[in-house]
Amino acid sequence: MSHIRRYTNLLPQPVRFGLRRLLFFGTARRCELCGNGVRGFAAHGGGFEVLDRRQVVGGMRRENDRCPVCHGCDRTRMMMMWLRDVAGLGGDHPPLDLLHVAPDYGLYLWLKRQKGLRYAASDIDPARYRHIPNMHAADLTAAPFADASFDIVICSHVLEHVPDDMQALREIRRILRPGGRALLLTPLALDGRGTEEDPSVTDPAERERRFGQWDHVRIYGREDFLDRITRAGLEATLWDPFAADRAEAERLGLNPLELLPIGRRPG
Ligand SMILES: [Zn+2]
Repeated sequence: MSHIRRYTNLLPQPVRFGLRRLLFFGTARRCELCGNGVRGFAAHGGGFEVLDRRQVVGGMRRENDRCPVCHGCDRTRMMMMWLRDVAGLGGDHPPLDLLHVAPDYGLYLWLKRQKGLRYAASDIDPARYRHIPNMHAADLTAAPFADASFDIVICSHVLEHVPDDMQALREIRRILRPGGRALLLTPLALDGRGTEEDPSVTDPAERERRFGQWDHVRIYGREDFLDRITRAGLEATLWDPFAADRAEAERLGLNPLELLPIGRRPG
């Protein structure tokens, strides 16, 4: 399959999406993100010893989890549940300004269907996202947005790639409105052994061995990650979808080990 993927990755994302919709069409499951019926969800994650040894939630293998069309998975559906049930997206509210960093297609498609949302997206390499509207070229450590621009910032599986993550978190605080909230997901080690990082490691194979992916610069310990959010001037909390609504969390197939880190700008 990998040699096929090498060629299909050259196609624009909406074209790939259309091909996958045909290829995986079925009635066994329906993806709430992209809205497609599929024959089943796929396994993803895992593959490196460090991910299991350090109990890295968001990195360990998950079976029957990933939509084969939009590639949305448990954490994407967890964000959708928070945005819908806690932030109230799709209900009656004044228009919200939302920034989607490194936008994944499944959540983008869900957000597009919600009313009362002013959507912006950003990435350090915006050419990868020509299909996304209002897309900005943005290094998260020097974000090209005015102070207090956003009510919600979605930043999922980005910070583990950023060498100066503290500067990125301070920028997220700056561009949030007082009371605004950021969804700050990253692979998190649950083994209590802290954060493993070493900026001198640049060899992709060594990064895979130590951090679980060729382009990651660290593995966060969960407590240390929350501490970094706090040190950036945000109020850090962990939202537990199973405590909020167990039946819905189970229906969505969320990961019982994964909690959603939220950083709220005070005010
Ligand atoms: Zn999907």
